[in-house]
Amino acid sequence: MERIYLDHNATTPVDPLVVDAMLPYLTAEFGNPSAVTHEGRRARLALDRARRQVADLIGGDPGEVVFTSGGTEADNHALLGAVAATGRGRVVTTAIEHQAILTPCEQLERDGVAVTRLGVDHHGRVDPAEAIDALDDDVALISVMLANNDVGTLQPVAAIAAAARERGVLSHTDAVQGVGKLPVDVDELGVDLLSLSGHKIHGPKGVGALWIRGNTPLSPLIRGGSHEGRRRAGTENVAGIVGLGRACELAAERMGADGARIRALRDRLEDAILDRFEDAERNGHPELRLPNVVNVSFAGVDAELLLMNLDLLGVTVSSGSACSSGSPEPSHVLLAMGRDRERAEGALRMSLGRDNSDDQIDRTVDAIEQVLDRLREVG
Ligand code: PLP
Repeated sequence: MERIYLDHNATTPVDPLVVDAMLPYLTAEFGNPSAVTHEGRRARLALDRARRQVADLIGGDPGEVVFTSGGTEADNHALLGAVAATGRGRVVTTAIEHQAILTPCEQLERDGVAVTRLGVDHHGRVDPAEAIDALDDDVALISVMLANNDVGTLQPVAAIAAAARERGVLSHTDAVQGVGKLPVDVDELGVDLLSLSGHKIHGPKGVGALWIRGNTPLSPLIRGGSHEGRRRAGTENVAGIVGLGRACELAAERMGADGARIRALRDRLEDAILDRFEDAERNGHPELRLPNVVNVSFAGVDAELLLMNLDLLGVTVSSGSACSSGSPEPSHVLLAMGRDRERAEGALRMSLGRDNSDDQIDRTVDAIEQVLDRLREVG
C-alpha cells in the first residue's frame, strides 16, 4: 500500500524538475562562483538566475537576496545581525515562533538583551495593538512569523511592520511556512527582513535565503570572505541554490491551482474528522490560516501514540513541530494559545501537499478511527 504523506510543514519531497535543474551543478558545472574563470563565471550566472527566481516570488530585488544554509540561519542572522548593527538593547517577538527564533532569543537574553515575547489569542493570533505598544526606540527588531508551522494561523505582519517603520524599528518575518503557499510580497508586508527555506517548497534541504531590504543595517552572522556582497561568508552551495531558485519559480507558477486543490482537500479532511469524532477540536484560526494545515486535538489521547500507530498504518503526520519532535513537551504554540496540557498533548498536525488525493484523505480518516478505537480499548 502506498504511504500517505501528510507532513509537508516538516519537509516536502524535492520536485523532479528541481532535481533536473540541480544535477548539472553536482556534475559538469562545478565552478567556484567567486572565481573569474570560465567555470566560475558559469556558476556565478547560475547564482544570479536563482537570486532572480527567489526575488520574483517575494516581490523583492535580486540584489537584496542573501543565500543561507536554510530558514534557521536566516532567522538567526536577522535577529543577531540587527542587534549587533543597531546596538539597541531589546527585541520583540512572539511566544509562538519557531525554535530558530526562540533559541537565539534565549542567547540574547543571556547576553543582556531584553526580549519581549508577545502572547496570542486562542486562535494563535498576535494582537497588533499589543505588538505596536511594545515598540520604542530601544528596540532593535520586531520579529513576527508570517504563518505558524503548527496551527497555520496567519499573523498581522503588515500592520506591525508599518508601525515599526514609523517608530524607526526594524521588522523581520519568518516566512518559511508562508512562502510558496500564499502570495508573499515584501513591499505589501513592509518588512525589512524576510526568511525563507528551500525544503518547505519542494526544494532541497540545507538552503534558504534572507531577503534584506536595501540599506537595512545588519551585521553578518558568518564572517570570512566577501561572498554574497559581504553579507554571508562561505562559498555558496551552488547546486542547492539552483534548486531553491527553481523551486521558487515552480511555486510561483503553481501556487494558484495547487493552493485551491490543497485547500479543498484540507476542508475535506477537517470536516470529516470534526464530523466523525465527537471529541475532536480544531486548533488554529478558522479563516486566517494556511491552506494546507489541519491541527486537531483528540480528548484523552496521547498524540505521540496516535502518530506512531498511524505511521505503522502507512500515514505520516506530526504531533507538533517536526523540529521539536523527540521532546516530550507538548507544542509551545498550543500552550501559548491557552490550550490545557491534555488538549495540547492530544494534538495532531496534518499538513497537506500537492500530491495528496481525495482517496488518501478518506483513508487517513479511516486510519485515525481504527487507531483511536484501538487506543481507547487498550486504555
Ligand atoms: N521557521 C519555521 C516557521 C519553520 O517551520 C522551520 C522549519 O521547520 C524553520 C524556520 C527552519 O527552517 P530550516 O529547516 O530550513 O532551517
